[in-house]
Amino acid sequence: MTTVDLPLLPLGRGTDLASERGVECPGDLPSASDPDLVARAKAAKEALGERVFVLGHHYQRDEVIQFADVTGDSFKLARDAAARPDAEYIVFCGVHFMAESADILTGPDQKVILPDLAAGCSMADMARIAQVETAWDAMAAAGVQESVVPVTYMNSSADIKAFCGRNGGVVCTSSNAEVALEWAFQQKPDAKVLFFPDQHLGRNTAVLKLGYSLDDCVVWNPLQPNGGLTAEQLRDAKVILWRGHCSVHGRFAPEVVDELRETIPGINILVHPECQHEVVLKADLVGSTEYIIKTIEAAPAGSAWAIGTELNLVKRLAAQHPDKRIVFLDKNVCYCSTMNRIDLPHFVWAMESLVEGVVVNQIIVDPDTEREALVALQRMLDLPGKSDRD
Ligand code: SF4
Repeated sequence: MTTVDLPLLPLGRGTDLASERGVECPGDLPSASDPDLVARAKAAKEALGERVFVLGHHYQRDEVIQFADVTGDSFKLARDAAARPDAEYIVFCGVHFMAESADILTGPDQKVILPDLAAGCSMADMARIAQVETAWDAMAAAGVQESVVPVTYMNSSADIKAFCGRNGGVVCTSSNAEVALEWAFQQKPDAKVLFFPDQHLGRNTAVLKLGYSLDDCVVWNPLQPNGGLTAEQLRDAKVILWRGHCSVHGRFAPEVVDELRETIPGINILVHPECQHEVVLKADLVGSTEYIIKTIEAAPAGSAWAIGTELNLVKRLAAQHPDKRIVFLDKNVCYCSTMNRIDLPHFVWAMESLVEGVVVNQIIVDPDTEREALVALQRMLDLPGKSDRD
């Protein structure tokens, strides 16, 4: 058994060059207790005017989301950024892979800024390019590589998206994973899909949407020799799932669904497809964050909902819909710790630096990676409709 090889660094200090994210904050942050932080953020935003466009992911804190020009999930935000070619600065209140996607999809003169470089994604870190290349070579040795089509979730680093671009693969989101997998299976006779980094989204989509069985799926463990699989298992599989997961959505448990159904009769269980298969099987409705928001908006007054997604979003939905009963599907409070790295002090620091003409924490994807990642992103954009749950 190999141990996890990611270095454990205190957030805000040191560097982790092999990781999807950085951890060093090079600036002097305003104090978190400064009572003028809101006024300072407002003043900086006003001073920058149309030159800045602030994106806020649904999982961000309220203290930051109040300054967002648009909110959305990762793909919607990247598209929104691409639709504002006049904005000189894109301040991305989200995590590292999202800022990379925004940099890929925006113009060469636009600068994408992530207020805290430690805002990474533990799921994206679970599939690193060297590991993926090793797996690809192992699939060649097993004689299956020719039939494998790689599909990566949006929640992956730019070099993984580039890998998909140069190897005939595609990017997908939680709202178009079904159509992306259908596309992948049509690319070759006897095609197999290699899906990363989230095994749960891959399994839930392959089994519940495309009708494959759990036996058609195998899990590639990047920490074990040959992924922990035999050549025969690779040859027999239709879907090779990367052993990655979201540290937030992976927490939701099927027992809690049972308990809530007992204590709140008539409750509807609404979860994100990054949840474990056993949880999704017990849920009433499954969909992306945008789908979850729309479902709650359309729900009748008096209805009861348990939601399995990040807590900042669930709390915001509960506050916005006091006529509905909305509870969190986990007994223990758990925010996404890296999403929460973007707080008001980091936001104010990034914005005030821009006012002074200093660009901090710019996220730049190198041109080769950008070109290949765009190929995989463009294949996703060219997929036929069926993203009604976006
Ligand atoms: S919620 Fe999960 S997938 Fe999203 S940024 Fe956090 S760890 Fe990554």
